[in-house]
Amino acid sequence: MNNFNWDKSFLVDFDIKTGFSKTAETTKRYLSQMKDMFCDTEAAAKLLEAGDPLVYEFHELGCPERAGDLAFGTTILYPGKVGNEYFMTKGHFHTILETAEVYWTVSGEGYMVMENPEGDTMEERLTPGQAVYVPRSYAHRTVNTGTEPLILFYVFQGDAGHDYGTIETKGYHKLIVEKDGAPAVVDNPKWK
Ligand code: MN
Repeated sequence: MNNFNWDKSFLVDFDIKTGFSKTAETTKRYLSQMKDMFCDTEAAAKLLEAGDPLVYEFHELGCPERAGDLAFGTTILYPGKVGNEYFMTKGHFHTILETAEVYWTVSGEGYMVMENPEGDTMEERLTPGQAVYVPRSYAHRTVNTGTEPLILFYVFQGDAGHDYGTIETKGYHKLIVEKDGAPAVVDNPKWK
């Protein structure tokens, strides 16, 4: 936990090239922690025989979960694939469903994949210099379709909370896969 007083102004560093922060706390997600979230579980098992690749990490400040505060930080999603499915974040709904989020792409390329509890789905391309607005009530996951790390800066309501379980149980309606050498949005054959 950092020592910031969230009732006072403060400054915090984020490296423009790496997305890392010397101040923020780092959380890392390895393939072993999300192997069942990729469609091709056999390909995931095969990759894990050779090691346990780091899929993504995020750097954030441990914002107090108070209404009115803003949580923010960076996500660094590494390039790679499990079978033909690109490396992605777990994805989540916010516990307070009606809370939005902004992601600004610092570098790299990919997709923001979104869906709401009614099954409406949206995908937006992530390109450096553009910010994507993730509206209230939509689960969101980022996917790296490039060959470099995908670095994003995000901001959301401090008390929004995270619901990872719904996505872990049901999966996503849409997958981003490599098809004929290019990224494609396809239906998830395993969606429950
Ligand atoms: Mn979020």
